[in-house]
Amino acid sequence: MSADSVIPFGFESIPVRGALIHLSRSWRRMLRDHDYDSLVTETLGHAAAATGLIAQSLKFDGAITLQVQGGARLRMLVMQCTSNLELRGMASVDGSQVAGDFAELTGDSHCAVTVDAGERPYQGIVEINDESLAASLEHYFARSAQVPSHIALVADEAVAGGLLLQQVPGQPIDEDDWNRLHILAATLTCNDFAGEAGMGLIGRLFAEDDVRVYRAREVDFRCRCTARKTEDVLRMLGEREARAALEEHGDIEVICEYCGRRWLYAAVDVERLFSGNVFSAPDSIQ
Ligand SMILES: [Zn+2]
Repeated sequence: MSADSVIPFGFESIPVRGALIHLSRSWRRMLRDHDYDSLVTETLGHAAAATGLIAQSLKFDGAITLQVQGGARLRMLVMQCTSNLELRGMASVDGSQVAGDFAELTGDSHCAVTVDAGERPYQGIVEINDESLAASLEHYFARSAQVPSHIALVADEAVAGGLLLQQVPGQPIDEDDWNRLHILAATLTCNDFAGEAGMGLIGRLFAEDDVRVYRAREVDFRCRCTARKTEDVLRMLGEREARAALEEHGDIEVICEYCGRRWLYAAVDVERLFSGNVFSAPDSIQ
């Protein structure tokens, strides 16, 4: 298996399903245009791994958005992954103070998980647990989805990885087995993802168990920003602000917070946007 993939697996004699995610190239691309400190990097990496793990379990075309909001230091964190495993994400931090730990970074914030299948988006909200994003999401799964889950997440500036273990609904499980799997999952570190990881890592972690591994699926970084969406940002800014910016700088540059792509608007574009007869630019495929 190459890095940047998810491997689903199951246990032959324990009613538990699992998945392992390993992000490296896509993860470094996500960090490329940002200058996050190590704690924010780690938290964003945990979010990337977790969102990919949740998205791989989608049974329909759609997307998962994980959003952490309302904290003092971490203003906002957004991570999105489609059912095709196209991932993007960003964090916005109060730069005036550096948080010492996860609790300080995310204090008082909430985590919203939105499952978007097109017609009826479903959102579950859970308070951020002081301990970690993984613990917060375990609460989310226990409460919103009522699926007992173990989640282990690791990240540094080179890799983001994670493991999701979920009980199969309706099938009784031996508590000792469930606790043992928890302990094994909790041993996961960034070092486990230094090389190929993949099936070898699953085999090593669960050496005592019969594990059935399914086909790996590739994960990519891909931003879905378009000319149309960027123009919406300008419209929200308003005509007066837009014209003032144009006056000052000669043109307006809108930078996508996810991929760093620069969208440039000259006077003629601003004219078109705010004239009564508006034709949106066609969505461009990046
Ligand atoms: Zn973008």
